Amino acid sequence: MPSVARYLTPVLSNRSVADDFYELQLHWPPEAAIPRPGLFLTIRSADGSVRLLRRPFAFSRYDREDNSARIIYKLRGTATTQLAAKRPFDTIDILAPLGTGFPLPEPDTRPILVAGGIGVGPILFLARTLIAHATEPRVIVGARTAGGLPPLPAEEYGEVIACTEDGSYGHRGTAVEALSSYLETTSISNNSGESVLYLCGPEPMLAAAHRLAIECGITAYVALEQTMGCAIGACMGCAVRVRGPEKYARVCTEGPVFDSRTIDWRTTT
Ligand SMILES: Cc1cc2nc3c(=O)[nH]c(=O)nc-3n(C[C@H](O)[C@H](O)[C@H](O)COP(=O)(O)OP(=O)(O)OC[C@H]3O[C@@H](n4cnc5c(N)ncnc54)[C@H](O)[C@@H]3O)c2cc1C
Repeated sequence: MPSVARYLTPVLSNRSVADDFYELQLHWPPEAAIPRPGLFLTIRSADGSVRLLRRPFAFSRYDREDNSARIIYKLRGTATTQLAAKRPFDTIDILAPLGTGFPLPEPDTRPILVAGGIGVGPILFLARTLIAHATEPRVIVGARTAGGLPPLPAEEYGEVIACTEDGSYGHRGTAVEALSSYLETTSISNNSGESVLYLCGPEPMLAAAHRLAIECGITAYVALEQTMGCAIGACMGCAVRVRGPEKYARVCTEGPVFDSRTIDWRTTT
């Protein structure tokens, strides 16, 4: 894990990208380790008399040209509402970079990236990174309704399979249903040794994708969004049950990215 440090860094922009979703762009401190897909930061967003635990958010982008990093976040409660009020030149207090990133696919594998809800940021970051390394991923993004999908330009992410649960945009259904159809139509579900899945989204989605990956004999890497206390490995608040002698793993330090076969899914959903 890269060394973690605290930084006070200015906001470059903070704009709405979908219903209840914002994209925050921060100046990236030159002395800080470069963000990679799957890593996250925590933000201390306490203003005034409200003091909150730092909140974790996955990186959604890093741009070397202007030395900036981004997150895509959903308005949920106090911390994200405070964050949405931040304006350019306001300062943000971050701890970064945290966690383990997505392992990059082997050269002869075909990466399939699947995002649901707030999992969209790290998946788009991985897509951009793979494309920059001349690997064409297939990206599937799911939301409840059309308004929950951020812009997904084909020139940046290739031809994205978008799906909505209410059918208001793209395929009707969940991201895992779209994944299942994609695997069937590309006839790789029975001979899929060279495919690899990368997923981020709500836990039921990850558990369903894990079962599908096992059926198809595909390796799946999942980024978990467990609620966290300290986010630096001290409090055990984010521990999940894993298979094997260790029994528990901390999502903040051993994760948030895991091979889906290491998670004991019976205890998560
Ligand atoms: C490693 C990691 C990466 C994350 N990346 C992102 C990201 O890229 N974008 C993003 O929008 N969010 C992300 N989250 C979730 C984010 O941390 C929470 O949405 C945020 O802390 C909510 O804070 P709040 O004070 O606004 O809401 P709160 O008042 O704390 O919570 C409001 C509601 O959201 C639910 N909630 C809070 N945290 C989570 C969570 N982690 N998972 C599921 N439900 C939760 C609560 O149960 C409650 O119902 C990530 C979480 C983790 C652990």
